[in-house]
Amino acid sequence: MSDHALEFTGPDPVVRFEGVQELAADLVVVPNRSVQLVPNIGVIGGSEAVLVVETGLGPRNADTVLRFAAEYAHGRRLYLTTTHFHPEHAFGAQSFTGEATFLVNRAQADDLAAKGEAYLQMFRGLGAPVARQLEGVELATPDVVYDDEYDLDLGGRVVQLRATGRAHSKGDQVVTVPDAGVLFTGDLAETGQFAIFPWFPPYDTDVSGTRWIAVMRKLAATRPRVVVPGHGDIGGPQVLDGVLDYLELLRDETWRRRDSTVSEDTIIKEVTALLVERHPDWAGREWIATGVGCLCSEHPSSEDADGTEATA
Ligand SMILES: [Zn+2]
Repeated sequence: MSDHALEFTGPDPVVRFEGVQELAADLVVVPNRSVQLVPNIGVIGGSEAVLVVETGLGPRNADTVLRFAAEYAHGRRLYLTTTHFHPEHAFGAQSFTGEATFLVNRAQADDLAAKGEAYLQMFRGLGAPVARQLEGVELATPDVVYDDEYDLDLGGRVVQLRATGRAHSKGDQVVTVPDAGVLFTGDLAETGQFAIFPWFPPYDTDVSGTRWIAVMRKLAATRPRVVVPGHGDIGGPQVLDGVLDYLELLRDETWRRRDSTVSEDTIIKEVTALLVERHPDWAGREWIATGVGCLCSEHPSSEDADGTEATA
């Protein structure tokens, strides 16, 4: 996957616990402070148990997350879930073994089993700061696997775990805390950066722009009070609207050019120029090209297009 090497330019991908934000009673987020390969991490409490959402990259980060969560839980039982299998979200789960019940949807468990090793290799290739955090990673096996929906009762608070179907990855999951109006999206939404398209043919082509748009439409219609994106600042429902607008623009600009059989390289150049002009302050410009590549494969005329958007 080296020909699609991602750029890792940021500071060390280390979870820090300054500025922990309380979003509702007994619900905090450890913010990623816009550091690359650090996710926003949720800690959600009920009277009996506490759910941690995301592990951070590798066991050393996850050890600190576990320590923070155990202190926060103050004797309450611990659960862990991850929004999808990507390394900074899930490759620290081993630290929670024996300490927490690790719970995910089936498609995500399959993703982790099928592609975990390849992602470990790919991410080690991103550079020494990332490789250091990935030292000693052993891919954990979830304790509980559900198919589509799981309601986790933390005691006086039920958290909804929902598989969205393939979008940013095959096994995306969103986590909703209805009594607090909080939604954790994982990488289905980011703020301050271009949407992450892990489109790495021929190794991984599970990301789907058209399915992602359909999922975002459904999520945006639920109007949560607070949206915690996978990376970037926490916001309101406009976070979802913004991602949906961006994905639709990316699709429309890509497909308009594909209609007139412009080459993929030219489409990438033109669409990148247009979107960078639209969002000059956003990070992650390399994800525009992979997004165009993904959406070219999903153009209605493409053999690979599965036409799901019409029925989704
Ligand atoms: Zn991801």
